[in-house]
Amino acid sequence: MTRIFTYVLHRAGVVDDTALELIATARAIDPAALPTAIVTGCGAELDRVCESLRASFAEVWKITNEALAYPNAELVRKALVKVLPPNSIVLAAHEHFAIDLAPGLSIKTNASFVADVLAIEGVDGSRLKMTRQEFGGQLSTHVECDIASGAAITIRPGAFQPATNAGVSGTIVDKSAEIGSLTAGRRYLETIAAEAGEVDITKHNILVSVGRGIQEKDNLQLAHDLAEALGAAVSCSRPVVDAKWLEKSRQVGSSGKTVKPKVYLACGISGAFQHLAGLKGNPFIIAINKNPKAPIFQVANVGVVDDLLEFLPEFTSKAREALTVSTK
Ligand SMILES: Cc1cc2nc3c(=O)[nH]c(=O)nc-3n(C[C@H](O)[C@H](O)[C@H](O)COP(=O)(O)OP(=O)(O)OC[C@H]3O[C@@H](n4cnc5c(N)ncnc54)[C@H](O)[C@@H]3O)c2cc1C
Repeated sequence: MTRIFTYVLHRAGVVDDTALELIATARAIDPAALPTAIVTGCGAELDRVCESLRASFAEVWKITNEALAYPNAELVRKALVKVLPPNSIVLAAHEHFAIDLAPGLSIKTNASFVADVLAIEGVDGSRLKMTRQEFGGQLSTHVECDIASGAAITIRPGAFQPATNAGVSGTIVDKSAEIGSLTAGRRYLETIAAEAGEVDITKHNILVSVGRGIQEKDNLQLAHDLAEALGAAVSCSRPVVDAKWLEKSRQVGSSGKTVKPKVYLACGISGAFQHLAGLKGNPFIIAINKNPKAPIFQVANVGVVDDLLEFLPEFTSKAREALTVSTK
């Protein structure tokens, strides 16, 4: 089996959650694999990242260079080409940076490229079999690629359960000397932080999330009432933002925020994969939808087939009653 590397994203010295998901992906490809982490950047932040990865990876390849202080996939690609052994498999989270990095990396290393993988089906000789989705998630497809000369594969965040800690004390291997000087045609200008909005939905344990099924802006009060009773925040699907009923900072999904609540109430949300992509950490999902065939019921722990305009006020009043009793 070829050697498996995972390109680990980090920000402000904190490792992205997808690092452990990529270990799980590597194990799905090769159960005996203990993949090597590759991290790029510079300074004390990169040192902190490497230290924290030692608990999960047997080896952490550190590439430190002033030019890598800011995200620039062109430079990272050049650095990786210099350090990767022939025929390596490189896994990365299917996020903006890797979408920029991985296709060009596969060309430069003469490896296969597969994007946005949801599941690993198995390995047959040098053929790696995977599952992807096509046509906006309407079709699942089986794809296979030849890994004999390596591969660059991006994995959808949240598709794999994060691996449990390997209980190792990995070695940090400094590969910086091997990359020489780095220059790129493109230049980093600035990072524009997303607006936090009045509520940070990424920090709440309970989210009352509304979709198009809420029907009109005035009905949002029903969700706010329930959220208040439960000590939750209100989040939403994209059509609610498109209709300007709630601000963009409350949108959950692939083009919105990634959230990790313990409980997620999906109210009038159909369950499109772009929406579910924003749900991480295996929350307990309660779905309220008047269509019993809505896809959200396939992932929900509890399903309520009802008109949410009738159900929500009832639920809120029961929640208030229950919470009053429990605090007496
Ligand atoms: C590139 C791209 C990125 C995207 N990014 C995102 C994203 O980040 N987040 C996101 O959410 N979407 C995203 N989308 C859109 C996504 O594909 C879906 O269109 C969207 O999630 C659907 O939102 P919804 O479930 O609210 O609406 P719908 O799919 O219209 O579902 C509404 C649901 O409400 C139910 N309903 C209607 N009335 C009631 C009622 N009275 N009581 C109970 N149930 C009722 C219906 O049965 C239906 O299931 C993206 C799409 C693309 C192409």
